[in-house]
Amino acid sequence: MVPKQPNVPKVIVQKFGGTSVGTIERIRNVAKWMLATQAQGYQVVGVVSAMSGDTNRLVDLATQLNPQPWSKEYDMLLASGEQVSVALLTLAINSIGGKARGLLGHQLGILTDSVYSSARIKQIDTNIIQAELGRGVIPIVAGFQGVDVENNITTLGRGGSDTSAVAIAAALQEKGVVVDCEIYTDVDGVYTTDPRICAKARKLDTITYEEMMELAGLGAKVLQIRSVELAAKYQVPLHVRSSFDPVEGTRVVSEGPVLEQVVVSGVAADMNDAKVTIMNLSDRPGLAFEVFEPLAKASVVVDVIVQASATDKDGGLSLSFTCPKLDLPRATEIVETQLRPKFPKMQITSESNLAKVSVVGVGMRHHPGVAAKMFGVLSEAGITIKLISTSEIKITVLVDADKAKLAVERLHSAFDLDKIS
Ligand code: ADP
Ligand code: ASP
Ligand code: MG
Repeated sequence: MVPKQPNVPKVIVQKFGGTSVGTIERIRNVAKWMLATQAQGYQVVGVVSAMSGDTNRLVDLATQLNPQPWSKEYDMLLASGEQVSVALLTLAINSIGGKARGLLGHQLGILTDSVYSSARIKQIDTNIIQAELGRGVIPIVAGFQGVDVENNITTLGRGGSDTSAVAIAAALQEKGVVVDCEIYTDVDGVYTTDPRICAKARKLDTITYEEMMELAGLGAKVLQIRSVELAAKYQVPLHVRSSFDPVEGTRVVSEGPVLEQVVVSGVAADMNDAKVTIMNLSDRPGLAFEVFEPLAKASVVVDVIVQASATDKDGGLSLSFTCPKLDLPRATEIVETQLRPKFPKMQITSESNLAKVSVVGVGMRHHPGVAAKMFGVLSEAGITIKLISTSEIKITVLVDADKAKLAVERLHSAFDLDKIS
């Protein structure tokens, strides 16, 4: 345990997402909010995303030139969105009598690895932040970006500003500073399911780090999964709340005995899934490695994997896996080029309009029958399950994307989430 420093004000890291800084008016409101927090005696560190739509616009520009634009320059391009919002928010604070300083990833020494487009933070130097805080200045840090050992700009994956905020909070905490991390977004907390998909979604007062990690990994983009992993690892207190309404949001907390009573805490849907099936493979030791190692090297995020022996007419083995829809062309190309020479009879099929629907809850550990109930609910709704994957606290099924909303609504009701008050 690092000893807490006496008489040092608490630091609140306030991260504002794209919608929250989407217009000049909203940026002004964020500036006022940060100054109001400072006036209450806290030291404030701001972390901002690009203005809403900006990152997508940049992605679109790059993909017009090259459908597979992944490179150092792609990260350089995408990171520019945050430079705009940092500068604007800093200007806004300074023009209403506050003191702020805009800081980009490289200025702060947010050191990452060199996995472009999904870089991981290795180290953050908090000296500049702490020096500015000590002078009463609000450091406004660009989310989503860092720099690698060769000084190239890197980005942390879509939604990565959440991770920047948590990483800064964790780094300050490691120095003995008392920190809170507030994630301001366009909903007022974490809900039992995406409130934009299911009208009956209910706001949760608390959710465990573990459940939040599963939900985030399964499509609940309210927090980037890596931010939750980091928060859990360093026990950073996380508060997800609205940038438009000052009500209490959702606290992400460690698991306690009371929380275990709920069987299912949330339902998640990820509409951007694709499935690849490779048939007519011949079984041999190391086959899975041969298939998945080149995909991993190309940073294709493979999720659900199903292997079936002797299922096709030639008695061959078939392997199916899911990956993000965006990665499908790359995944099939890699499988084709790497495996075809070894398995000339191999057949590849793919489907892209799929969704992963999952139920998540730490209470599942102590309640059998959740999977059977889930399958029953989907069967009654006439929804075909294409793949199944389970862990201790989640059950995921792959369904046609146009059935995902119905699946979420039915599961939300069946697991009594409509009734949470
Ligand atoms: P920001 O730009 O602030 O980072 P995001 O768009 O990344 O915001 O995340 C907020 C969105 O996450 C919400 O608008 C909501 O549609 C979506 N979302 C998905 N699942 C959930 C959930 N379980 N609870 C709350 N929001 C969710
Ligand atoms: N601007 C980046 C994105 O749109 C990072 C973020 O919003 O957190 O993914
Ligand atoms: Mg986000």
